[in-house]
Amino acid sequence: MDAWQRLTAHQPSPLEELSQDTWAEKGIRLWVKRDDQLAWSPDDPFCGNKWRKLKYNLLEARKRGMGTLLSFGGAYSNHIAALASAGRHFGLRTIGVIRGEEVDNPTLARARKDGMTLTFLSRDAFRRKYTEEVQQGLEQQFGDFYLIPEGGTNALALKGCAELGEEILEQTEEWPTCVAVACGTGGTFAGLITSLSAHCQTLGVSVLKGQFMAQEVADILYRHTGQSYTGWVTHEDYHHGGYAKLSPELVGFMHRFLEEHGFPLEPIYTAKLFYALDDLIRQDYFPRGSKIIAVHTGGLQGLAGFGDRL
Ligand SMILES: *Cc1c(COP(=O)(O)O)cnc(C)c1O
Repeated sequence: MDAWQRLTAHQPSPLEELSQDTWAEKGIRLWVKRDDQLAWSPDDPFCGNKWRKLKYNLLEARKRGMGTLLSFGGAYSNHIAALASAGRHFGLRTIGVIRGEEVDNPTLARARKDGMTLTFLSRDAFRRKYTEEVQQGLEQQFGDFYLIPEGGTNALALKGCAELGEEILEQTEEWPTCVAVACGTGGTFAGLITSLSAHCQTLGVSVLKGQFMAQEVADILYRHTGQSYTGWVTHEDYHHGGYAKLSPELVGFMHRFLEEHGFPLEPIYTAKLFYALDDLIRQDYFPRGSKIIAVHTGGLQGLAGFGDRL
């Protein structure tokens, strides 16, 4: 099977029930959609929701005959690492435009190793990245490119994430009460909403500090589908200090989770998602009898960057 076939013809990632006494006592059943196992190879950043989000973008770039992909991100961006890895798998040149001063860390080192050209933009220029001025500068430097927005969220990303929702529906005998996912840009959540809103509720846990994710998701949905959707909710109080910030409670939770359920979470997204669900169950947020599916969106390669903070 060549890489392009593998991109589209993969098996559904597993759906596994987790058991925990504190959930059972509340009459809650919880499954995890193991999209972390949708990975090109173990520990490959091209995995999970990044596979879903890039899939149709890669196919589109190929259709247009474009050999260079360019995107934006912060220095710890899983999206940048995933794009670099995809470039290697599909024989495409990749350019990562990184916010702020030149730095090095495991995420960027990995991207470089995967053949990505990295370029650093001042925070000010980064804010203006989609303006004609900055875009022309990038074209002069790198030639023609297929542009993928920061975080990889665009209409084609939503299409790939809608498939994640469809896969879940095919794997369940009865529709779940609620499907939950962590939100960075909110693109994965928006894609899930498009395929699930007619069947069940969807819940997004923001990993960023601030009360803007609901608006952001509504905007993404409207911009890319021209529609608004109901039956979804965001939670914005589980960021533990902000993006990539940790609290002692979160770190403790991650360790207990691994011990209890036998597979790891990473601290930026999936630990915050499961922490939030565990807390909401404790607070009787979900009615008895609820069936919840939490998406493990992957990102485990990012654990390396935390060193002894974990
Ligand atoms: C990027 C990422 C997310 C966030 O996805 P968005 O579509 O930007 O909301 C969630 N989980 C993991 C593991 C990620 O790498």
